[in-house]
Amino acid sequence: MTALTDNLEKLDGYLARFRGTGIKNRIGGKDSDGAGPAFSTHSPVDKSLICTVARGTEKDIDAAACVAHDAFADWRDMPATERKKILISVADAIETRAEEIALCECWDTGQTIRFMSKAALRGAENFRYFADQVVQARDGQLLRSPTLMNVTTRVPIGPVGVITPWNTPFMLSTWKIAPALAAGCTVVHKPAEASPLTARLLVEIAEEAGLPPGVLNTVNGLGEDAGKALCEHPKIRAISFVGESRTGSLITKQGADTLKRNHLELGGKNPVIVFDDADLDRALDAVIFMIFSINGERCTSSSRLLIQDTIKDDFEAKLIERVNKIKVGHPLDPATEIGPLVTEEHFNKVTSYFDIAREAGATVAAGGQTVGDQGYFVRPTVFTNATNDMRIAREEIFGPVLTSIPFTSEDEALAMANDTQYGLTGYLWTNDLTRALRFTDRLEAGMIWVNSENVRHLPTPFGGVKASGIGRDGGDWSFEFYMEQKHIGFATGDHKVMRLGA
Ligand code: NAD
Repeated sequence: MTALTDNLEKLDGYLARFRGTGIKNRIGGKDSDGAGPAFSTHSPVDKSLICTVARGTEKDIDAAACVAHDAFADWRDMPATERKKILISVADAIETRAEEIALCECWDTGQTIRFMSKAALRGAENFRYFADQVVQARDGQLLRSPTLMNVTTRVPIGPVGVITPWNTPFMLSTWKIAPALAAGCTVVHKPAEASPLTARLLVEIAEEAGLPPGVLNTVNGLGEDAGKALCEHPKIRAISFVGESRTGSLITKQGADTLKRNHLELGGKNPVIVFDDADLDRALDAVIFMIFSINGERCTSSSRLLIQDTIKDDFEAKLIERVNKIKVGHPLDPATEIGPLVTEEHFNKVTSYFDIAREAGATVAAGGQTVGDQGYFVRPTVFTNATNDMRIAREEIFGPVLTSIPFTSEDEALAMANDTQYGLTGYLWTNDLTRALRFTDRLEAGMIWVNSENVRHLPTPFGGVKASGIGRDGGDWSFEFYMEQKHIGFATGDHKVMRLGA
C-alpha cells in the first residue's frame, strides 16, 4: 500500500462520522444546528462533498456570546495552576490526534501533508507555550511615588471573539485561542466557512481534555452574517481577527458601536530583497520556500522578489529551473510539494493573474497554467520582467505565484520594498552587516528576517504595519491584547487631600 492510499483510507475513517450529521456548532458543550440553512463544504482535491455545516446566524452568536459570558467568571477565577494543567492536557490531546487533524486539514484546504503534519504539532506547541505563561500573566509592577504605593495588575478582558481564515486554519486558530484561554478569557470562535473541519476537532479535543463547557464555543457561518454579529455583540469585549485587509476594516467598523478592542492580522505583499553579496544558494532555497510552501497561501509569503540586476539573469534562471521541478499533486501524498488551492473562487482569483501579468507586459517565466480538471491545481508560477507598479507586484495574490523585479541600488530596492500598502514581513539577503542594519531600520514591516526564511519563535512579536494589521501576538504581547492593565494606588501616609467646600 502506498502512503497516499494509506492516508486516503485513514481519512475516510476520520470523515465517516461527519457524513451523516454534518458539522454542528458547539455552544456551551452542546452540539446545535445553526439558525440558518446548513451549507456544504467540498474538497478542493476533487470537488467532492465533504459534509454539511451548520450555518450560524445572529441568534447562534447571541447564544454563544451569552454562554461565554456566563462561563467567564469561573474560568477567570480558576487558580492559574489548574488552568495551566488543562491547557497542557489540550496540547497532549492535540498531539494524540495529530494525524486526524493533519489529514482532515489537507482534505478541507488542499494544503499538503508535508506541511500540515507539522501544523497540528505547532498547534499543540501554541497551547503548551501559553500554558507555561499562565501563572505570571497577571503579574504587574510596583511603581512607588512619594505619597502612594502604585501597583499594576492585569485581568482578562472578558469573553472574546476569534475569527480565522482558511489558510492553515488549525495552526492559526490555536495561535489565537491558546493565549486567550491562558489569559483567562472565554472564547467564541467563528472559523472560515471554507475550512470548518479542524475547528470542530479543536473544540471537541479541548472539551475532552477538561476545558469546561462554554469556555470555548464554535459557531460556523458566513462572515457577513455570523462574523458580523460576533463583532457587534455587546457581551464580546474584543475581536482577534486574521484575514484580508478589507475585512479587517469591516471588523473595525462593525465593532465601533460596542467600542470593541480589535487585533487585526491582515494581508501582505512581502518583499524578499537579494543583494549580489549574499549567499545566493541559501537565498535561492529561501526565496522558493517562502512563496511555494503552504501553496503560497500564507500571509508571510515572499511574493515580491527584488533582485539586484548584477545577478538577476543567473538567479532567475536557477529559480525557474527549480520551480519547474516542484511537484504539484495530491495533498495526501507525502511527495507532493503543492496541493490544490482552497476553493473555486480562490482558484479563479489566482489564475486571473496569469492574464493580468501578460497584459501588463510581464513574462510568465514558469507555470501560468492549471493542472488537470479534477480539483483546483495550478503550476507554481514566476513572473519576470515586472515592475513594481504592476498589479502583480501590488496586489496580494495569495497563491504559489512569485513576481520578480530587478533593482540597481540599495536606495532603489528600499524604495520599491516600501512602495506598497502592506507591511507584514520583509526578507533581506546580504552579507554586508552595515547595509543590513541600515536597510532593516528603514524597511516598513512588522517582521524582518536577515539571511533567513521566516522562522517563527513564539516569544517574539508577530504582526504587521500599514494595511497588514494592528497589534502583535506572541509572548507577552498576546496577553497585552487579551488582558486589561489595572492600576491601584495605596496611600502610604496622610498626604494632603484638597478640601473643596470646606
Ligand atoms: P477573509 O478576510 O475573507 O476571511 C477571514 C475570516 O473573516 C473568515 O472567517 C470570514 O468568514 C470572516 N469574515 C468575512 N467577512 C466578515 C465580516 N464582515 N465580519 C466578520 N467576519 C468576517 O480572509 P480569507 O480569504 O479567509 O484569508 C486569507 C487572508 O488572510 C489573506 O489576506 C491573508 O494574508 C490573511 N492572513 C493574514 C495572516 C496574518 O497573520 N497577518 C495570517 C493568515 C492569513
